[in-house]
Order: sequence, then structure tokens, then C-alpha cells
Amino acid sequence: MRVALVTVGDELLSGRTTNTNAAWLGERLHERGVRVERVIVVPDRVADIAAVVNVARARYDAVIVTGGIGPTHDDVTMEAVAAAFGRELATDERVVERLTEEGGYAREDLVEGTADIPVGARPLFNEVGVAPGAVVESVYVLPGVPDEMRGMFESVADEFDGERRHAERLVVDEPESALLDRFETLRERFEVSVGSYPGEFVTVRIEGDDREEVKRAAAWLGDRSTLVKR
Ligand code: ATP
Ligand code: MG
Repeated sequence: MRVALVTVGDELLSGRTTNTNAAWLGERLHERGVRVERVIVVPDRVADIAAVVNVARARYDAVIVTGGIGPTHDDVTMEAVAAAFGRELATDERVVERLTEEGGYAREDLVEGTADIPVGARPLFNEVGVAPGAVVESVYVLPGVPDEMRGMFESVADEFDGERRHAERLVVDEPESALLDRFETLRERFEVSVGSYPGEFVTVRIEGDDREEVKRAAAWLGDRSTLVKR
């Protein structure tokens, strides 16, 4: 399964907020075996969001959009996603019911637009905050507030699946350039991918679909390299 992430918010582009949602979703999806192939950051602008969502949904199995939901005027993500599908926004009675019956809100206290999602979308309830998310075909709309986003993602996590990947990590006390030949041999001999991350030492990450194969590859490299004792 291949996925694109669309993170919405002027504050992400200006650098005021670090895009931790993309990092967190990337990690969660990766460990489920789902490939995140694009992370796109767009401003809080209907045309920009709608255009990007439309390109991404044509190209990827699923699209996750975070940020800019809720009833304040600068939150335009729902409107944009509705526009991308040529739909209107409408108040979802299931959301209103949930907020009034379980959330402790009186109907008249809900800010207008709070329960609005694209017509025909599946609502996602917000266990942490108020504004609902939504699923329209392959597009998942989640909140920007990290806690709310994580809670809501967990409620749909099972809809994202792929081959679970296995990984082994080695820390090597040699220059990265000295390891390149061994990496090449590793890729030839074993069904694995190899990533190397230089720092004080070189961290080598060996990944593959088969746990035993990954272990054999890690043992092969470990036997031939100067590992950092920990
Ligand atoms: P609200 O209903 O509170 O307005 P929202 O779903 O509309 O929430 P935003 O308005 O986009 O979300 O952002 C709310 C908060 O979450 C802000 O503090 C923002 O900086 C933070 N936030 C938004 N997107 C991200 C992100 N990608 N990574 C980390 N934090 C984010
Ligand atoms: Mg907002």
C-alpha cells in the first residue's frame, strides 16, 4: 500500500510549527508495512489543498490530510476536501448526536460548522477534542493538534496495511565509505534493503520482509565489521 501525507498549515510553512504529525504518521505507517511516498505541506488555502488532494488521490492508494479542521474561519481543510470531490459540506447528525449524547455538549452550544463534513463521508469521532475527522473514499481527514490526530489515526490504523517489515540495527565504528562494498554484497546475497546513517558512528539499518533473512544479513555484516560495543 502506497500513501501520501498532506499536512496543512501556514505555521508549518513558516517554520513556527515543526511537522511532527508527518514524522509520527510516517513512522506508524512504515512499521505497518505501508509505504509513505510523499509528504506535502500546503498553506491554509482551499484551492491549494483541493488541488494537491486530487493529484494525490489519483496516484496513491490512500491520502492522509492533517490540520485545518474545525469551525474557525482559517480552517478550510474540510471545505477543500469536499471541493476536491465536487461535494458540499453538511452537518453530520451522527457527529452532533455523539457530541451531545457522549461529549456533554448542548446542541445550541456547538459553534456552527463544528459537525460539518463532506456529504456522504464517513465521520471519524474525536476522542480528545471536538472537531470530527472524515473519510471520503481513499482520503482521510484528521485534526492538526497532535494528540487529536494520533487518537483518530489509531481508530483507522487497521485500514492501513502492507507487508510488515523487519529490521535490525548495527552501530559500526568505521567510516561509511569503508562499508560501501559490504553493503553492496549484502544487497546481492540477501533479500534486504540497507540504510546507513553516519554520525559519531555509522548506524546501519537492515530491513526486509522476512525476519530470518534480516537476521542472517545482520549476522553476516556483524561478523565482518567493527561494531560499537554497547
Ligand atoms: P483546531 O480545531 O484546534 O484549530 P485543527 O485541526 O484545525 O485544530 P490546526 O488549526 O491546523 O488544526 O492546528 C492546531 C494546532 O496543531 C496548532 O498548534 C498547530 O501548530 C498544530 N499542528 C497542526 N499541524 C501540525 C503538524 N503537521 N505537526 C505538528 N503540529 C501541528
Ligand atoms: Mg485550526
